[in-house]
Parts: sequence; C-alpha cells; structure tokens
Amino acid sequence: MEKEKPIYKFSKSKNVLKELGYQVEKAEAYRPIKPVDVSIENIKDGTIEITDDGIFFKTSDGQKHKGFMYKREYYLARYGKPRFHTRSCKIIQEFKVRGSFAAEYRWSNDGKVQVCDMDDNFIDKTVDILPLCQYCAEIQRSGQSDIYKDSEEFVNELKKAIPQETVTNVDVLGYTKEWQDISKHYREKHKYTCERCGIHITNSFDYGYIHCHHRNGNKTDNRDENLECLCIECHSNVDKSHENRFSKGANGICLQDFIKKYRGNKTL
Ligand SMILES: [Zn+2]
Ligand SMILES: [Zn+2]
Ligand SMILES: [Zn+2]
Repeated sequence: MEKEKPIYKFSKSKNVLKELGYQVEKAEAYRPIKPVDVSIENIKDGTIEITDDGIFFKTSDGQKHKGFMYKREYYLARYGKPRFHTRSCKIIQEFKVRGSFAAEYRWSNDGKVQVCDMDDNFIDKTVDILPLCQYCAEIQRSGQSDIYKDSEEFVNELKKAIPQETVTNVDVLGYTKEWQDISKHYREKHKYTCERCGIHITNSFDYGYIHCHHRNGNKTDNRDENLECLCIECHSNVDKSHENRFSKGANGICLQDFIKKYRGNKTL
C-alpha cells in the first residue's frame, strides 16, 4: 500500500493536546473553580503550579485544574483590560523573582473575571475576553500551537479538552472518580489490549489510546460484561454517535495521532 501523505502535520497535535492540559488517563471534567488570589506563597507551597504546560491550581482533593493568571488590581479606564497569562512567561517569572507576598495576581479558569478597578475606587468589576500576554503568545507560537488569543477562547478550549464520556458522567451523575478507577482497572486487566483489533499498547504514555466502552450505551452500567476495552480507533467506529464524537475536537486530534503513530506503517 502506498503511504499516504498526512493531511496536516500531526506532530503539532500532541502539542495542541498538551496545550489544552489534555491527559486522557487523568481527564477531569472542566468545572469553573472559585478564583484564587496568587501571592508568592501559593506558588511556593504548590497550590499554584507554573509549568511549561501551563498554570495550574491544585484543589484540596489533589486535582489539578488548568487556568490563567491576571493582575488582580488594574487601572481599567487608563489601560483597558489586564492581559492574561497561561505560561511561565517573562512577566510571571519576574513576579516569581520579585517574590511579592501581596496577592498581585489572581488565578481563574472562568471566562468572566473580577478586576479591582484602581481608576474607580477599587471597585470589583466583571471583565471578560482578556487579551493574551504578548510573552505568553510568543511561547505559544514557538510551541506551534497558536490556538487562542483571548481568555474566552482559552476557556472554551479548556472546556472542550475533556472526553465526552467523562463529561457526561460528571455532569449528570457525578461519578467521575469512580468511573476513572473502574475504567483504569478494566483496561489494566486487559493489559491495554483492544478487544476488537488486538492492538497491544505497551508504552504507558499511550495508555490513553485504550478506552473503556459501554457496550449497551448505558454509562452507569459498569458491570464487567458491559465493558469493552477498545483502542481509540475501534472505539470511534462503534456506531454513528461515536463516529461523530471522534470526528472533532480533542478526541479527533487524539484519534489522528493514534492512527499516525500506530497504523502509519500498516501493510495490507
Ligand atoms: Zn505572560
Ligand atoms: Zn482496536
Ligand atoms: Zn463508547
């Protein structure tokens, strides 16, 4: 079989997924978290984690949530909206070095944020669609993943980056944690081998390509006989609704990556 040219550069997609904080194994449903004032203390004690992959807030249950940081107090009339940061950019690094104990910044993962207006008696005002910090934008571009330019787009990407099965479970039933354990256990039991095509994933970084599918479509029916260990490609071919689900967004990117990586040299 003649090797087909990829439609676009797939090496990009891993970056895009990383950019979105997408981890298939540890996927947690997006939920808006109460804004957190960020002083240097929060960074030191790990409540706020600034890594190459983004800026995270750790809730007391140990879950990490991706978000952004912005100046808590700002001259809104004079300077317009504060810029938002998603990376360990020059400005954030300077803040870390300066080591301000005052909560100069605020962390959020919500589209609408509160900014204390220094031009108007320090009144808290609701601001949305913050522009991206230019240094963060540079880092974004160098990672070949220019995917958001304002905070609204960024938050929308955060929301999209969750596999839908997880979202459904969380939204409707609140079973995320339990389901994650069941799914992991089931996939482990099947040694990360697809029950349809037989592909066996050995690289633990790629375990996310192996899914746990509900045969009867009922996502609360987690009996072993209702579960099926499937690679992402077989999972995407289960039926029409699965086809749709894997045709776009983070799921689609993940599927394409899998095909590129594991089906690329398949000879017929
Ligand atoms: Zn920045
Ligand atoms: Zn398969
Ligand atoms: Zn399924």
